[in-house]
Amino acid sequence: MSKYVKFTHERARAEVTPFDRFAELNACRRKLLQLRLIGVDSNGTSFGNLSVRDGATRNFYITGSATGGVPDLTRADWTKVVAYDFERNWVRYEGSTVPSSESLTHAAIYKSNAMAGAVIHCHDSTLWTAILNQAPTSSKAVGYGTPEVAYEIMRLFKVSDLQSRKILVMAGHEGGVVTFGGDLEEAFAVLIHERKESSPCVDGAFHKRTPA
Ligand SMILES: [Zn+2]
Repeated sequence: MSKYVKFTHERARAEVTPFDRFAELNACRRKLLQLRLIGVDSNGTSFGNLSVRDGATRNFYITGSATGGVPDLTRADWTKVVAYDFERNWVRYEGSTVPSSESLTHAAIYKSNAMAGAVIHCHDSTLWTAILNQAPTSSKAVGYGTPEVAYEIMRLFKVSDLQSRKILVMAGHEGGVVTFGGDLEEAFAVLIHERKESSPCVDGAFHKRTPA
């Protein structure tokens, strides 16, 4: 039944409503870039995106499309998603740049878990291989940036321990891992904790962090 629905977007306004977590967002991004969990792949395609929920709403600030490899984002590289429709794979946003095509993946987490305040989507093939089908895993049949991924995530909240484990593996998107938390710090800590658990021989720096 699944048919490809292209991601579409509509700009509400060119100015993003100001938000005060900007420095925190860039600090988290820098750590992810250093670990090469976001960036640009050998084909020149950027990967990885971060978002932060706007207060208690279902709206969220998310990195713009194709910004994965940018060292420090300016305010112009962020967008705010202010409305969305899973079925149509559509978002309305504020900003001068287009939101990540994986915005609906983030939206599915905020919709499913009221406590989720931040989401990280990164690529880590080692972690992906280690926890595929061990951690909550979305169906291999669904590609990234599709309505089906969003539905899969909502399903995983019901049938797996995603709510407490706060990490999922995208079987149909090689290397694709998503973590979330009450804030970016927690979403990042979940990621580091899983990396440490799944690969005991990694750089000692990972062992210094307190597990999530
Ligand atoms: Zn991805």
